[in-house]
Amino acid sequence: MTPILYLVIPCYNEEQVLPLTSGKFKAKLEELIEAGKISDESRVMFVNDGSKDTTWDILTSLCEEDKKYAAISLAHNRGHQNALIAGLMEAKKYADITISMDCDGQDDINAITQMVDEYAKGNEIVFGVRNDRSTDSWFKRTTAQSYYKFLRGMGVDIIPDHADYRLMSSRVLNALEGYGEVNLFLRGIIPQLGFKQSVVYYSRAEREAGTTHYPLSKMMSLAIDGVTSFSIRPLRLITVLGIIVALLSFIGIIYVLVSVISGYYVDGWASTTCILCFVSGIQMISLGVIGEYIGRIYLETKKRPRYFVAERKNLTEE
Ligand code: UDP
Ligand code: MG
Repeated sequence: MTPILYLVIPCYNEEQVLPLTSGKFKAKLEELIEAGKISDESRVMFVNDGSKDTTWDILTSLCEEDKKYAAISLAHNRGHQNALIAGLMEAKKYADITISMDCDGQDDINAITQMVDEYAKGNEIVFGVRNDRSTDSWFKRTTAQSYYKFLRGMGVDIIPDHADYRLMSSRVLNALEGYGEVNLFLRGIIPQLGFKQSVVYYSRAEREAGTTHYPLSKMMSLAIDGVTSFSIRPLRLITVLGIIVALLSFIGIIYVLVSVISGYYVDGWASTTCILCFVSGIQMISLGVIGEYIGRIYLETKKRPRYFVAERKNLTEE
């Protein structure tokens, strides 16, 4: 029996890009249906992440024109990761396999065929991995590479150059549903789920229209999420740092005592100030790191729902 595939595509303020890309997704789906690789019940499913422009109107009319499209709309803008989870959990009700991807045409649609072929070989998770970063700016490339190195250093196991372009079976999604945390960092959790996994390489294109929703500030917060939701190594490093500073201080105290006993006095203003600045800097950073973790504990203890589905189109539970 051929599997039912749902493409899960989050969209936030994408009115410029949707008219360009939506047809390509459908064409790919139909090509796969024709080739007998996936079932006729497969769909292109969009998730409107509380867009403020005409994105939902565009999606609604697409769904009215063609039953191959489906869509859900979230009550609020909940961010890319939550929109993805909302879409995946919805798709799980109907599909055997899902492929999550961006709606801006950056994820090469031809990799979908390879992903479906990998699934047919028995893989339940297939990661789309970029084979080069030449379309990125120098800044994004360098920060991304240093970030992967940093994550490795912190003991987090993620697949380099893999964003959220991936195939997952419904069995994998059932496992994912068990992760109730608010700060869900999919790129870190999914490799940990186990199951049979494989990788498909693709080259990432430029955005077809519109602008990125990941400015530096959002990239930073995703980066911090990646570390704090998988590793407590930063907290340990604080302890190590504390021990080193304490040892240095001890040596300093001995030096001061010896100086005093031997009757050697200096003004000492510069050295005192330097030590003061150094130690208080370290203390502030340490407090900040601890604060990051406490903040996350605070968010998790409230157990607030991640999203609300406000509307559905071409889905049976409308
Ligand atoms: N997106 C979303 N909610 C948001 C921000 C982004 O659903 O709050 C979607 C967006 O429409 C796109 C995908 O997430 O399909 C990735 O965003 P974007 O292309 O802006 O990021 P980039 O590819 O530049 O990292
Ligand atoms: Mg993009």
